[in-house]
Amino acid sequence: MIQDFKNLLFPRLCACCDENLMKFEDVICTFCRNELPLCQNYFDGDHELHKILYGRVRLHQAASLFYFEKKNNVQQLIHDLKYRKNRAISAFLGQWIGEILFQAGWQNQIDIVIPVPLHKRRLRTRGFNQVEGFGKAIAAKLSAKYEDKVLLRKSTTKTQVFKSRFARTDVVQGNFYSKNIESLNHKHILLVDDLATTGSTLEACWMALNSAKNIKLNIATMAISK
Ligand SMILES: [Zn+2]
Repeated sequence: MIQDFKNLLFPRLCACCDENLMKFEDVICTFCRNELPLCQNYFDGDHELHKILYGRVRLHQAASLFYFEKKNNVQQLIHDLKYRKNRAISAFLGQWIGEILFQAGWQNQIDIVIPVPLHKRRLRTRGFNQVEGFGKAIAAKLSAKYEDKVLLRKSTTKTQVFKSRFARTDVVQGNFYSKNIESLNHKHILLVDDLATTGSTLEACWMALNSAKNIKLNIATMAISK
């Protein structure tokens, strides 16, 4: 009864289509859940990130939950997470892909889950890193450690903003740095991000992490551009 009254005041809406959720549904309605374009090729080396990052990042395994296309429901989902601050989406997607990775035996393959960090200023305005819930849920499912203090993002300077118009990739590569890098020596890392497109952010993170000895890099993203 109290719950029904609460739903009247604060309706629980599907993060994709904005329709009311049924009592038994969480974050995404059953219709949208069935329509989301799931990536299938997690583990056979066919994942697009192997092609995108070939020769740039020494990548062990990669997985993405969905394909992202302009105006598809995945775009709506990520928009809801980032700009309408629907934080529940992040953990929800982390649990979803965490289960898939667990079934595939990744729980014995990952030591540390590391999120792509946000700029401090962005973190202040948004209030949260949109991949935090995603990374934490995966770490919990795979019995790995979640670590967001080792890979950090430099704050943007005016010069960098100016330069970025001409050489975006170069600038992004200079935007990350690592702290206590020795703690990553010989570890199997899972780097997590929301959307993979050109791979330049992931490459820049790899360059900051690669000063650790003998690390194995895996990547998981909520979505990948098709
Ligand atoms: Zn829906």
